[in-house]
Amino acid sequence: MAKKNLIGFSREELEAELVGMGEKAFRTKQLWHWIYHQGEMDFDQMTSLGKPLREKLKETYVLLKPEVVTEQLSEDTTRKWLLRTQDRNEVETVFIPEEGRGALCLSSQVGCTLTCSFCHTGTQKLVRNLTAAEIVGQIMVARDTYDEWPSDGHDRHFTNIVMMGMGEPLYNYEEVSKALKIIMDEEGISMSRRKITLSTSGVVPMMERCGEELGVGLAVSLHAVRDELRDILVPINKKYPIKELLEACRKYPGSSNARRITFEYVMLDGLNDSAADAKELARLLKDIPAKINLIPFNKWPGVEYECSSHHKIKQFSEILNERGLSAPIRMPRGRDIMAACGQLKSASEKARKFSENKSEQPVA
Ligand code: SAH
Ligand code: SF4
Repeated sequence: MAKKNLIGFSREELEAELVGMGEKAFRTKQLWHWIYHQGEMDFDQMTSLGKPLREKLKETYVLLKPEVVTEQLSEDTTRKWLLRTQDRNEVETVFIPEEGRGALCLSSQVGCTLTCSFCHTGTQKLVRNLTAAEIVGQIMVARDTYDEWPSDGHDRHFTNIVMMGMGEPLYNYEEVSKALKIIMDEEGISMSRRKITLSTSGVVPMMERCGEELGVGLAVSLHAVRDELRDILVPINKKYPIKELLEACRKYPGSSNARRITFEYVMLDGLNDSAADAKELARLLKDIPAKINLIPFNKWPGVEYECSSHHKIKQFSEILNERGLSAPIRMPRGRDIMAACGQLKSASEKARKFSENKSEQPVA
């Protein structure tokens, strides 16, 4: 029988395994500490566990992180990992360092079931949910690269976690929530829920549960102020239109003026970037504790949309500011390595597409 991977087990599950093999429950805390505080992947090194237990663990279990296929570093120091899962699927993870802080952008699915028309991930055919192990594994791999074990909270590169990589996290809620609980556990990786943001395209029925159970910050991919346009850009809008989405935002547990919901708004030339759009956006958000992130559109091969001009984006931001809304323009990061928002897509898929296209070329 294949050995079970203990990464991604909740504390309760880990305890059940240990008790099941005749161990005392307090061993859970020790093992947890080795894995998520020390980042130790070798049972033999877990000296406080005692040799007999280490041997037993080795017989039945493994500690497996996704395998690193490639690691790319952008001119602007953004880093992207292409990771391979046990069943040979691929996902990408991105680290965006800034002065004194840094956000690690995690993926929740291989590809995405949704098909937002401006998003590269949405064009990927192969889709499956990532397991909690594969989600937690992404942060563990990133920490390996930056030699950031043990998790003692000093001089951390990763001050923030954003669920904004490949996939729709609220379509994989069970595994995402399990992973985030592991990541937040104070005796392990210990990231505060205040430093975690989950971005959704608007899976309305899952939003309340997410706020209540996880208490993480919410980002909503709004991108349009009218349903006709949002139906095209973010097709889940046909199921949960703007009005319902904003109602769910008003009810999002834990949001307040101190903890605002971020509305993401991608700037698409001639489509959603007029002064009238900006005014309507301010009107829609007037009774929600909101901040807006204006995201210059990141192009990818084959897409027809264009990014709005800098002048237009600035004007849009100013209109929102005049109406009391903070609307910074998010600097694109890692564009040169296809690591910016919406550019992620697994490399094997890209390679496959490339060879398919090539075979369609007429033979000279
Ligand atoms: N599925 C989730 C989270 C991942 S996408 C969601 O849609 O919210 C993270 C953010 O990048 C979303 O706001 C998404 O709309 C945006 N995005 C997607 N493609 C983009 C592109 N090409 N340029 C700029 N932003 C993009
Ligand atoms: Fe999926 Fe988000 Fe991309 Fe839409 S924007 S296709 S929901 S990853």
